[in-house]
Amino acid sequence: MIKKLLALSASAEKAALNIYERTPLSLRYRLFYSPAFLRWLTLLKESENWDKERVRAYQLEQTRNLLIHSMKNVPYYRNLFSASGFNPENVQNFDDLRVIPYLSKENVRDNTREFIDERVPLTSLTKKSTGGSSGIPITVYRSRSNEAAFLAFRTSILARIAYRPKAREVMLWPDVKLGGKSIPFMRYGNRLVCSVRYLTGEWILKYLDMIRNFQPEYILGYPSVLTVLSNALKHNNLPPYRGMKAAISYSENLSAWQREFMEMSFGSRVFSMYAMTERAAIAGECENSTGLHFHPLYGMMELKEGDHGRKEVVVTGFTNNEMPLIRYKTGDLIGEHSEFCHACGRRHLVAGTIEGRSHEFLVGRNGELIPALSSWMGTFRNVLQYQFFQKQPGKVVLNIVPAKAFSKSDHALILEELERIFGQMKDAVYLEFNFVDHIPRTSSGKIKMIEQQLDLYNLVARNAN
Ligand SMILES: [Zn+2]
Repeated sequence: MIKKLLALSASAEKAALNIYERTPLSLRYRLFYSPAFLRWLTLLKESENWDKERVRAYQLEQTRNLLIHSMKNVPYYRNLFSASGFNPENVQNFDDLRVIPYLSKENVRDNTREFIDERVPLTSLTKKSTGGSSGIPITVYRSRSNEAAFLAFRTSILARIAYRPKAREVMLWPDVKLGGKSIPFMRYGNRLVCSVRYLTGEWILKYLDMIRNFQPEYILGYPSVLTVLSNALKHNNLPPYRGMKAAISYSENLSAWQREFMEMSFGSRVFSMYAMTERAAIAGECENSTGLHFHPLYGMMELKEGDHGRKEVVVTGFTNNEMPLIRYKTGDLIGEHSEFCHACGRRHLVAGTIEGRSHEFLVGRNGELIPALSSWMGTFRNVLQYQFFQKQPGKVVLNIVPAKAFSKSDHALILEELERIFGQMKDAVYLEFNFVDHIPRTSSGKIKMIEQQLDLYNLVARNAN
C-alpha cells in the first residue's frame, strides 16, 4: 500500500514540478506579490515606528470608514443602524462606538448572507467554513484583496524571525491535493508540503527522513501537528534538524509544555501566530518575547470583561470590506496582557496566552496523537453545535446538537467529511454519535471543540522517554 502511494506521490511530484519549476522564481514571486500586497507591506514597515497617537488615529479613521461603508452597502448593518438611529458619520471618538451591540457567532451563523456587501457577487468571493475553537460553526466569505492583506501582515510578522518567502520551508497541511486527489506530499521550489492526513504509522518515519533531506529553515503547522512530529522525532531518538531556524505554529493555542517539548526536539525556537478564519485579527510573537502582539492595523481590539479576571477578545476587522465583522466576539479569552511590548517597543496589544484553543488532540487506540485540526473542521449541514468527547484511547463520542431539519443523509455526510479530514488516521479511533439538546459550557462560558479527559502531557512525556 505504502509503495503504491509512494509511486503515486512520485508521479504527482513530477507533475507539480513540471508546473512550478518551469516558472522562473522571479515570475512566481511576482504572482505572489500583487500590487495590493506590496502597498500593505510598505505601510506595515512604516507603521513599526508609530507612536500611540498615530496608531489610534489610524484605527479611528479605519473604523469610521468601515461603519459608513457597512451602513451603505451591508444589509445587516443598515438595518441595525437605522433601527437604533446610529449614524456613523457622527463618530468622533472610540466612546461613540459603544452603542453598537457586540456581534455574536450565532448571529453570523444565522444571517450569513446579510453580512455581505450587496454589490459584490458571491461568485467572486472564497467561501470558508470554520467550527473554530468555539464549537459554533460559521461560514465566512473572503475576497482577493483580503487575501493580499493577510499575506502581507503574515509576511511582516514573520520577518521578526528573519523569514523570507524564499526560505526553505516545510508545511504540514491538513490535506494535499493534486487533480482532486489527496496525496501524501508535494514538493515544489522552496516548499515541501506534507499531508497531515498521512501523519501516522510508517508515513511519520518517511516524513521525518524526507524533511531531514530537505533541510528546512522553517517548519509550519498547527501546534498539535508540530507536537505529533516532534514527538515522533524524540520517540525515535533522532537528533534535531540542522539549520532549522524556527518552528512556526499557528491558529491553535500553544501550551507551555508543547513549546518546551518542541524546542527540545527541533532544537530551534518556536514562534507562534494567532490568526482566524474570519480574518478579523492577527497576532504573532516578536524578536524578543513570546507574547502575542495583536496587529493594530489589521483590526481594532476591545477587551470585554470575562470570568475569573479574564477578558474576551472582541474585534473589528479592517481588511474584509466584503464581509465586515464589527465588534465581533471571538470567544477567545486572554489573561495577562499589556498595552504595548516592553521587549520590542511596538504599540501593539500583547497577550500571554489565548485560552480556548488548546488540547486539540484525539488519542488513537495505540496511544497515537491525532491532531483534530480545529481550524480545518468546518460546518456540518444542519448541525448547530458539536463537540468531541474522549475518555479512553481509541474511542471518541461526537456530541451533536441537531437542527430541526437534521436527517439520515446529514448523518452520512458528517461521517464522509470526518473520514476525509482524518484520512489515514480514521482507523485509529472508533467514533460514536450522540445527539443532545445542548452542550455544556466551561466555567469561562466557552464550548470546547474537544472535551479531552485523557492526560496528554503524561502521554507525550511517557512516549518521549
Ligand atoms: Zn515585542
